[in-house]
Order: sequence, then C-alpha cells, then structure tokens
Amino acid sequence: MKLFEYEAKEIFRKYGIDTAPGCVVQDPVAARLFVETLGKPVVVKAQLAVGGRGKEGGIQFANTPNEAFDAARLMLGRKIKGLPVRKLLIEEKLDIRKELFLGVTVDRSERCFTFLASAVGGMNIEDVAVQHPEKIIRFSIDPVNNFRIYHALGIAKKLGYSGKKLNQLALVIQTLYRLAYDMDAELTEINPLAEVEDGFVAADARLNMDNNALFRHMDMDSEERVNSLGELTLREMEAHKKGLVYVELDGDIGIIGNGAGLTMATLDTVMLNGGKAGNFLDLGGGASPEKIGEAVEFVLKDDHVKALLVNVLGGITKCDDTAKGIVAAQKKLHSEKPIVVRMMGTNEEDGKRILNEAGINFLETMEDAATLVVDLARRN
Ligand code: GDP
Ligand code: MN
Repeated sequence: MKLFEYEAKEIFRKYGIDTAPGCVVQDPVAARLFVETLGKPVVVKAQLAVGGRGKEGGIQFANTPNEAFDAARLMLGRKIKGLPVRKLLIEEKLDIRKELFLGVTVDRSERCFTFLASAVGGMNIEDVAVQHPEKIIRFSIDPVNNFRIYHALGIAKKLGYSGKKLNQLALVIQTLYRLAYDMDAELTEINPLAEVEDGFVAADARLNMDNNALFRHMDMDSEERVNSLGELTLREMEAHKKGLVYVELDGDIGIIGNGAGLTMATLDTVMLNGGKAGNFLDLGGGASPEKIGEAVEFVLKDDHVKALLVNVLGGITKCDDTAKGIVAAQKKLHSEKPIVVRMMGTNEEDGKRILNEAGINFLETMEDAATLVVDLARRN
C-alpha cells in the first residue's frame, strides 16, 4: 500500500520528524483561503502515490493567495503520470540550504533493512544513483544488534555534518528507521530532507507498506487508501472485498491456480502457447468447495474471459473439493464458457470422476491443458 505524501507526513510527525505547516485541499478556493491565513509563500503539491511529480508539473510555487488559487485550479482534475490529481498538499515554502536524500528499503538478498543516504538529494537522485553510485551511502541494518544512535551518527558524519546539526540529522536518521520498522515498510523515503537554518525538515515523504502486514495496522483505513490510489480496477476491488487474490489483465483466458508459483507458471505456459490471460486468481491453500465455487464464478463472470483454465495441485486443497466447486459454479451461472482443468494430488481420482460426469475437460499435464484452453478461447 502506497501512502500519499500527506498521509506519510502525518505518520512522520507522530514520530517527531519535522514537516512544514500545511493543509490538504480539494478545491482552489480552499487553497486561496489557506494561503491567506498563512500569509506566506507556499508550495502547491499534487498528491499522487508515485514519485517524480516535480518534473511533470506536480509541484508549483505560489507567493500569493491568488497564485495558489491559479496553481490549484490548473492541477486539480489534471492527470500527472497517468494518475488523476484529486488532492493537493499546500505547504509553507521552506528556505532550503541543501537537499539530502534518506531512505530505508528491504534488501531481500541480505535479508535486512538497508539505510540509504546521500548529500545530493532532490529530484535527480535516480541519475545520481546510476552515474555516481559512490555518492549514495548504504548501510545494512543488523536485525539483531539493531540500529543504534552511533550507526546513525556515522551516517550523518559521512553526509558532511558536525556539531548540533550532526545530532539533529542522526536523530532523523534513527527515527526514520524505527518508523520503517514499525510500519512494516517496503520503502520509506525522505527526498528531499531539507536542511534549513535551524535543523532538518522532511520536504517530501514516501511510505510504501507491505500489503501482507496490513492486518497489523488495522487502525489505518487501508481499504479506502487502496481504493483512493486508483490502482485497483473495479473488479479487483470487488475481489479484494471477497478476500480473493485476483489480478486483472488484458487477454481473454481466465486462470485459477493455487499458490503464487503454480499460478505464475500457469500464466507463463498459457502465454508460451500463444494465449493471453485475462486475469489470474490464486486460491491459496486449503480452499473449500464453496470458496472454489465463488472463485470460479467470479472469473467466469468477467466479460473478457472466453475460456477458463484451472490448475490445482492437490495438497491441503483437495481435488474432489475443487471439482465440486467448479461444477457448482458452472451450474449456478448456466455458463457455456469452456473450462479446462488440470489437477493432481489429494483425491485426484474422485475429482476426475466428478468433472467427467459434468462433461468438463480434464487433462493430465499443464502443457496440454494450456494448449487446449488457448485453442478453445480462440474458437469461442
Ligand atoms: P517529487 O518530484 O515528487 O519528488 O516532489 P518533491 O516534493 O520532492 O519536490 C520536488 C522539488 O521541489 C524538491 O526537490 C525541491 O527542490 C522543491 N521543493 C519542494 N518543496 C519545497 C520547498 O518548500 N521549498 C523549496 N525551496 N523547494 C521545494
Ligand atoms: Mn521527492
């Protein structure tokens, strides 16, 4: 889940990281009003769940309430980087001495969080990372020994600070790691962290949370946020509400598997055989006939789907349960869409028999099943 800048900043403030005084608005009149009250120059910032707005017109400076009104009117409703701008964050313009970059990310190969920092932050950090990788400090955080203030001080020193600012910066660095850890972040970034006269202020904020850890943050209204990102299609949202793991694609073959690996392999096999998947749904482990029925029903109802391939490895999920679910869904929908099933494992023979009686295609190998479903979709 990718939080908006203003949402991430709310969390940053709770942890004691400074941000500029600001206000979220959804119309130009509110923007003007805020700037009138503030009485200072501002930055008008489009709220998008992706980075790099600055280079696409998503950051505008305004010196007066009327300039803020105009900037807001231009930005709201526009699309930036393909996403509609619905909200703006208006913040007091900072007097920036220097722009730093701080980030915490998960290093999967090292199996730990890695702290990233650079004294040349700002909008060109991606270029810096490619052209001058030596300007990015990397620090792997030992999960057992934790991230101590002396580690943070070491990073702040490498960034070129001393004295009072060294201590202030180390505190921001340590706090950012604690926040990333507590929030189960896949990525946390402050770019730029603005050095101002008397300290440091997060001028931008990014926080991407691990979706598999959202249950630990139930106080956050995650669904609304997921929805507000506009990242999910309507059907994906519907699936999400039903507890189904479902992704929509732009082909015409529906795919149901159990487990991410098998589902991806099925997707690949269909592609290699010249087909195009219209979606995929991962049943996970131990699905009941009801849940399987619901999944099959959901995929068959997709208008783009011309044929369905179900590929199940019977372990905790039983083949006879799978077959029962498929047959029940087909009957309920009176669907004429061809279904191809490949499954093996627990109660395989019972499953085959149930499918045979219902006249549903059963094939022994994934390869053959994929070939058949591609052919059926083409003819349908
Ligand atoms: P991004 O392009 O989506 O990463 O947007 P940012 O929020 O990082 O802003 C892009 C750039 O705008 C920053 O690198 C700064 O140079 C500039 N900027 C943002 N806020 C302020 C501010 O309050 N004062 C000043 N002087 N510049 C700012
Ligand atoms: Mn930024």
